[in-house]
Amino acid sequence: MANTQAAEKENMDDSGMVAMDELVALCKRRGFIFPASEIYGGINGFWDFGPLGVQLKNNLRDRWWRDMVVCPPIGPDGEPLQIVGVDTAIIQNPKVWEASGHVAGFNDPMVDCKETKLRYRQDHLIAIIDERNDQIFAFYAEALEEKSALKKLKKMAGTDDLSKLKSVPFTKIAPADYAKVVGPDTEKKGTLTEPKQFNLMFKTYVGATATEDDKAYLRPETAQGIFLNYKNVVDNMRVRVPFGIAQVGKAFRNEVTPRNFIYRSREFEQMEMEWFCHPDEAKKWLDFWKEQRFNWWKSVGVMSGNLIFRQHDQDELSHYAKEGYGTVDIEYKFPFTAPGYGELEGIAHRCDFDLTAHQTHSKTKLEYFDDSVQPPRRFMPHVIEPASGLTRGVLVLLAEAYTADPSRPSKMYMKFKPSMAPVKAAVLPLVNKDGLPEIAQKLYYEMRTQFVTEYDTKGNIGKRYARHDEIGTPFCVTVDTDTPNDHAATIRFRDTMAQERVALDKISAFVQKALKE
Ligand code: ATP
Repeated sequence: MANTQAAEKENMDDSGMVAMDELVALCKRRGFIFPASEIYGGINGFWDFGPLGVQLKNNLRDRWWRDMVVCPPIGPDGEPLQIVGVDTAIIQNPKVWEASGHVAGFNDPMVDCKETKLRYRQDHLIAIIDERNDQIFAFYAEALEEKSALKKLKKMAGTDDLSKLKSVPFTKIAPADYAKVVGPDTEKKGTLTEPKQFNLMFKTYVGATATEDDKAYLRPETAQGIFLNYKNVVDNMRVRVPFGIAQVGKAFRNEVTPRNFIYRSREFEQMEMEWFCHPDEAKKWLDFWKEQRFNWWKSVGVMSGNLIFRQHDQDELSHYAKEGYGTVDIEYKFPFTAPGYGELEGIAHRCDFDLTAHQTHSKTKLEYFDDSVQPPRRFMPHVIEPASGLTRGVLVLLAEAYTADPSRPSKMYMKFKPSMAPVKAAVLPLVNKDGLPEIAQKLYYEMRTQFVTEYDTKGNIGKRYARHDEIGTPFCVTVDTDTPNDHAATIRFRDTMAQERVALDKISAFVQKALKE
C-alpha cells in the first residue's frame, strides 16, 4: 500500500488505519500481547496476552456475556429472550467430531512449494494470469500490496502495465495448468504441488497408553459443546424453545498459514451462541440476530463505517448451512485488509444439522416436545448461530482505538471506549512530598474497589500522561499542591486532553458515570 509521507509519519496508512507493524510493536511495548514462547524463538500461530491485553480481552468477553446471558436482548415480541450459559470440556468423545462432520470435512486445501518448502492455503491465493507469456502467478491477495510482489510481477511479465493481466481465485486454476504457475515465493514455474486436503483439528491421546484407540481432538469450535448439552439444558433448566445457549472459550485449529498477528492463530477464543427455534421461525431469528450483533459491535466502540455485512455465496457455505437461509458475516476493515474487510463474526442458519447428526450418531432422542400449542407437536429445532472470535474482537478494538496525534509526546493515543479500556483511571500525585501521596493513595484505595485503577508515581507528570495515552486510560486524576486546600483534584481527559477540577469525594461517581455510557 503506497503510504503518503504524512501518513507514514503518523504510523497510519492511506485509509486512516494504523500500520500493522506499529500496532504489533505497541502491543509488545505496552504489555498487551507477546509472541508465545518468545525466549525460545516463539511458536508460529500462538500468542500470549500480557497484563493489559488480558484485561482488554476480559472486558470484551464480560460485555458479551452480560449482553447475551445476564441481560439478553428484548425479543421481537417485547419480552426478554431466554439464554443460558455453559462452559464445556475442550476434549470430548472423538465420536462427537465424526457426527459433527469435522473428521471428514474440516479441511483446508493446501499446496506446497517443492522448491521453497513453503505451504499455502489454495483458497486464499489469487492467480494473476499473464496470457502473453503463458504463465500464471500465485499470490496472497494482501501480499500483492507489497512492493516486492509488484516488482516481481512487472519483471516477469515484462511490462509495467499490470492492467493487461487478469486475476481469478487460485481455486479456478486446474492442476493440469500448474506447470505454468509461478509460486508466491519463487521465480520458477511448476513448483507448486496439487492441492491436498489438510484436517485442521489438533490430535492428542487420552490416557497413558496412547494407542490409536485413545485418539482425541482439541475442539475446533465451542459450538459442539453446546449441542452436546442441549438435552441436559432442556430437561433440567426451565427453558422453552425459542431459547439460546452461550459459551465463551478456547478453540484450536491447526491453520495452514497463521498470519496477521492474532487475526488467524492456532489457539484462539470464540464467543458463540446457539439459538434454538422452530424451523418456521428461522428466517425471522436470523434477521433479528444479524441486526443485534451488528449493533453490539458498534456498542463496544467500533465505528459503523468500519463494519459491513457480507452474505456468503452458495459455493462457500459450510456443510450445515447448505439447506437453509445461509450465512452472513460481519466484517471489519482490518489494517491488512483495508480498504477491504475481513471476517469478525459469522451468523449462520445451521438448520437442524447438528442436533440431527448427534441424534443419529448417539442414538439419543433430541427432538423437542412442544405442549404449549394445540395439538402438541414434536420437532427438531433449527439453530441460528452468531459465532464470533473473542481474540479477533480484541484485534478490532486495538486497531479501532489507535489514534495518531502528532501534538502529543506519545504521538498517538488508544481511544478505547471507557468501558472497554484495560485501565479506567490513574491516580497521579504530582510530587512525592507535601502530603500529596497520602491523599492520592486514599483516593486510589477507594477507586480501585470499583474499577481498574492504577496508582502511578513514576517519572514526571508528562511522561505519566504519555504512558496512559498509549495504554488508553480514559481518566488521569492528578493530585496537586492545591488539593490539600481545596479537597479537589484535576481530571485529565484522554481524548481531548481537557482538564476539569472535581471534588475528591465526587471523583469515583464521575468515572462510574462515564463507564456506563
Ligand atoms: P475464517 O474463514 O477466517 O477461517 P471461519 O469462517 O472458519 O473463519 P468460524 O468457524 O465461523 O470461522 O468461526 C467463528 C469465528 O471464530 C470467526 O468469525 C473468527 O472471528 C473466529 N476465528 C476462526 N478461526 C480463527 C483463527 N484461526 N484465529 C482467530 N480467530 C478465529
